[in-house]
Amino acid sequence: LDASGDELNSSEKDIERALRPLSFEDFSGQDKIVANLKIFVMAAKKRSEPLDHVLLHGPPGLGKTTLSHIIANELDSEIKVTSGPVLDKPSDLAGLLTNLEEGDVLFIDEIHRLNPIVEEYLYSAMEDYKIDIMLDSGPNARTVQIGLNPFTLVGATTRSGLLTSPLRARFGINARLEYYDSKLLTRIVMRSCDILNTPIDDDAAFEIARRSRGTPRIANNLLRRTRDFAQIKGTGRITKEISEMALNALDVDSHGLDDMDNRILLTIIEKFKGGPVGISTIATAVGEEAETIEEVYEPFLIQEGFLKRTSRGREATHLAYEHLKMKKPGQTGT
Ligand code: ADP
Repeated sequence: LDASGDELNSSEKDIERALRPLSFEDFSGQDKIVANLKIFVMAAKKRSEPLDHVLLHGPPGLGKTTLSHIIANELDSEIKVTSGPVLDKPSDLAGLLTNLEEGDVLFIDEIHRLNPIVEEYLYSAMEDYKIDIMLDSGPNARTVQIGLNPFTLVGATTRSGLLTSPLRARFGINARLEYYDSKLLTRIVMRSCDILNTPIDDDAAFEIARRSRGTPRIANNLLRRTRDFAQIKGTGRITKEISEMALNALDVDSHGLDDMDNRILLTIIEKFKGGPVGISTIATAVGEEAETIEEVYEPFLIQEGFLKRTSRGREATHLAYEHLKMKKPGQTGT
């Protein structure tokens, strides 16, 4: 049977599912957010009320979907999962909402991409657990109001700047996820190895962690590929040597920066003498939206010390020059 068991475990999706933490205890990092959520969940349960609506924002792969499932688990509730672009018409949303049981969690990924008309319907659903549905059209058109079971909306977005203010205002709980440091990611890699029954050396786990762009999803992906190398080129154990071989073969940068990260730095250095330069100018030069650079790429580059934000724009740091093996004009050393 393939409904559960060995057969499915071999597929990437199932590995991903197996690696996903299911409780607050299992979830590493984001300490403050987790500590607060624990209290809000406990308080809601104690009062037998639905948890306030939760907005999770932050770059992809940091655990927004994972946390929304954990919230549902910890509330002993069911979760229904959808995403902004999928909810095309108000009736798509109405269908989901009217099927929610009391206390259920509705997870809407990419909530900044909701159709404005659908978003409008969400307001009264979030506020009063009611929606107005239009019946018929033309002279027979009339609206009926439908009451919903009290529920919790968890919205996730990588682009909080694109959220409308009426929508943002309807979330009682608002949390921004941060990149993980290498120590935390090492812990996540070790935990994943435990689950995958793969032996790994501490320094190998750290090597994978430090080259994962501060992102658990990337760490787990690199771990899976490194495991392949260990099984084919080694004894099955992930050693530092194996991890370096795998990461180099996968073209993972020594700092874990991806293609766009490097392009942004290179552009600032080559085209704008290292900056300062405005975000929209950078955006045009690299062919990416300014908001995406601001919300997805820039925070990591700043955190890792490759980029500086000044009142006059963005500047490449010494570290960026060093990383790209370029000389900073008029400077020696460091
Ligand atoms: P997002 O929704 O923010 O894009 P996900 O919740 O899908 O990110 O997380 C991506 C993967 O990373 C998940 O499959 C999960 O296994 C792993 N992950 C994320 N956060 C953590 C964490 N704090 N601890 C362990 N694993 C995590």
